[in-house]
Amino acid sequence: MVKGIGAHMPTSKGFHRVPKETKEIGGNAFQIFPHNPRSWRANPLKDEVAKRFQKEMEKEVLDYDNAFAHSGYLINLASPNDENWEKSVECLKSEVLICRQLGIKYLNVHPGSHMGEGEAYGISRIQKALDEVLSELSDLQVMILLENVAPKGGNIGYTIEQLAAIRDGCAFKELIGITFDTCHGFDAGYNITDEGAVGELLNKIDALIGLDRLKMIHLNDSMNPLGSAKDRHAPIGEGYIGEAGFKVFLSFEAVQNTPLIVETPGSNEEHAEDIKRIKKILSAIGVM
Ligand SMILES: [Zn+2]
Ligand SMILES: [Zn+2]
Repeated sequence: MVKGIGAHMPTSKGFHRVPKETKEIGGNAFQIFPHNPRSWRANPLKDEVAKRFQKEMEKEVLDYDNAFAHSGYLINLASPNDENWEKSVECLKSEVLICRQLGIKYLNVHPGSHMGEGEAYGISRIQKALDEVLSELSDLQVMILLENVAPKGGNIGYTIEQLAAIRDGCAFKELIGITFDTCHGFDAGYNITDEGAVGELLNKIDALIGLDRLKMIHLNDSMNPLGSAKDRHAPIGEGYIGEAGFKVFLSFEAVQNTPLIVETPGSNEEHAEDIKRIKKILSAIGVM
């Protein structure tokens, strides 16, 4: 068995639909946006909205360790523009509050883009933002997960070293974990189709951050070859990672013990197919 498997789920018909739909597509784990990801607005939920979601979590017997939120797209914690940076910090605070209302313990964020100002500048900017959010909201115990990203557009956090450097300089580092996205990692040159390279990657995560702080894996195939830096996700088995590549990656125990979330093209129907393919690979390995 793996710890969790699921997809990024739509919430347009309400948060309460997510647990049941997760089960319907063959999952027991999920990721959602806590608000419209293309908007700065992230208003607190009505009490009954949060309660209805929690009731469905209970009814479908889903574990909150397998429930994740993904931050909005406008947020850039590394932004050199003060107004944009302030808005990003405020929006992230609102997202933490929504997670708390829902009972979701993990909020995934892209570290940010330095927009040409350089990596060191960007990292210190991100650390300042996370310190500001967590100094106010650390008692809520919502963990921020820094996701590895594709190396493009001034993005910071495409290597494990960068994620570790951000985390190490934060005042509330115990509330900061990571997500590993296989497509972004492949874009950055992490060859997850190679056994030796996966072992090296996991050792690096363990040495610099701690494997217990790897809380989620975004399991996405890649439309482009290793090191392409394009950030184009493909359905499981249909990209350059491929079924054989995922078979190598999924054979590691540390991977099996981390919730696996697909962010592949399409919606529930396509994701059900992705989950089926992952389960097929897992059963070929002998873990499902
Ligand atoms: Zn992401
Ligand atoms: Zn991702």
